[in-house]
Amino acid sequence: MSNRTFTMIKPDATSKGYTGAILDQIIKAGFTVKAMKWIKLSEEQAGLFYDIHRARPFFGELVDFMSSGPIVAAILEKENAVADFRELIGATNPANAAEGTIRKNFAASIGENAVHGSDSDENAVIEGDFFFSKLERF
Ligand code: GDP
Repeated sequence: MSNRTFTMIKPDATSKGYTGAILDQIIKAGFTVKAMKWIKLSEEQAGLFYDIHRARPFFGELVDFMSSGPIVAAILEKENAVADFRELIGATNPANAAEGTIRKNFAASIGENAVHGSDSDENAVIEGDFFFSKLERF
């Protein structure tokens, strides 16, 4: 069990003006921000981040979507961070997400689902390293 996870607020949510409300929900749930940046991914960068999904039928849509506008990338800290954050964001498809979760509150569809949350401690480290140098985190 690690105490860190990685998140992105996705382009659908930043463009709809949900960034502040989502960060507020994350912080009120007990997570501390250890690194954060507001950036726009190129198609190539989005493809590299989601390389594991390259063979999936939705890969092209996912890359187009994730490079369509700015995102907020962040490393978060809390006891049991990965599992607790997955619970806070809810199911991938907002139609199946529990009441009160971030995806239930802010997401429109399975593709444009407002937030990313790492699915394992190992991926949390890989994903955090993708975005942040040692100088950019504490
Ligand atoms: P997550 O761990 O809950 O984010 O879900 P996955 O790892 O299964 O999928 C990664 C991301 O790909 C999701 O968050 C969605 O943005 C996207 N995605 C997953 N399934 C679909 C789909 O059926 N269609 C589209 N367009 N995007 C999808």
